Amino acid sequence: MFRCPSCREPLRSLEISADTSCRECQFTIPAIEGVPLLVKDLRVIERTIEKAKRASRDDWFQAPQINQWSGPYRHHVLKRKLYVEGVLSTYISRCKGDVIGLDLGCGDGANIEWLSQHFTALYASDYNLVRLRRARHRHGAEMVYMADILDYPAIDNTFSVIYFNHVLEHIPNDSRALAEVYRILKPGGRVVLGVPNEGAMFWQLAYRFQPSTGATTDHVHFYTAGSLRKKCEESGFTVLQVVPIGWGLPHWSLDAAVRGVKFIDDLLDRIGRVVAPSQATSLYLILSK
Ligand SMILES: [Zn+2]
Repeated sequence: MFRCPSCREPLRSLEISADTSCRECQFTIPAIEGVPLLVKDLRVIERTIEKAKRASRDDWFQAPQINQWSGPYRHHVLKRKLYVEGVLSTYISRCKGDVIGLDLGCGDGANIEWLSQHFTALYASDYNLVRLRRARHRHGAEMVYMADILDYPAIDNTFSVIYFNHVLEHIPNDSRALAEVYRILKPGGRVVLGVPNEGAMFWQLAYRFQPSTGATTDHVHFYTAGSLRKKCEESGFTVLQVVPIGWGLPHWSLDAAVRGVKFIDDLLDRIGRVVAPSQATSLYLILSK
């Protein structure tokens, strides 16, 4: 299921460890603190991170991710989780045999534990070693490893479900990333693709009201439901669902201040759904191949 990051031939061993080496080209998988590095050249990854750091907030690549289960968006994040769990349960109940999941761009691993409960085995990867060091201490993943989303170290048709949550908007070459996701997804499998709906007027306004947020954001793409659907279809996917989740106020600080109150988060949700359905906070697309 994995392939050599160097010559791209399948690795025969299913167990990837620090001393696994490719029989074709003798490339040996290095590991740092127990995290296998399934990348051809660590320096390329490091340079990518350095470049991104210079362009935006240094902290974003190092500081622990905000605990989303206790932060101001906890009610919103719970709505997203309930939706994703519904999608996973429905799909997996119809699957025969093993269901292999991938948490693609797992960050600090905040979603590994609950995700893993749905799968026969869950794999989790990221390109940021600082985050992987944290993610590997979470329970539930079969393996936590470094991988390049633009040249993924898995053979074609490997994963039944790919959870690709709030990652795509960070990747400059998003079309290439989607092409790789398409390649490694099993035919008939599912991609749960979540992004912020920041191309929508509300959130463009929020950036206009607080230009400092725009100057420091690490997002490089600002999608709408329409633009993202088109991009996914161009990558070959069948788009099964486009679901907006959560509504708020188009001002970042104000929005964060009020949505920590469950009543307000629920109320904005109910009003937004009717009055401004296209202006939701988040978009979830369910993709198949
Ligand atoms: Zn090789």
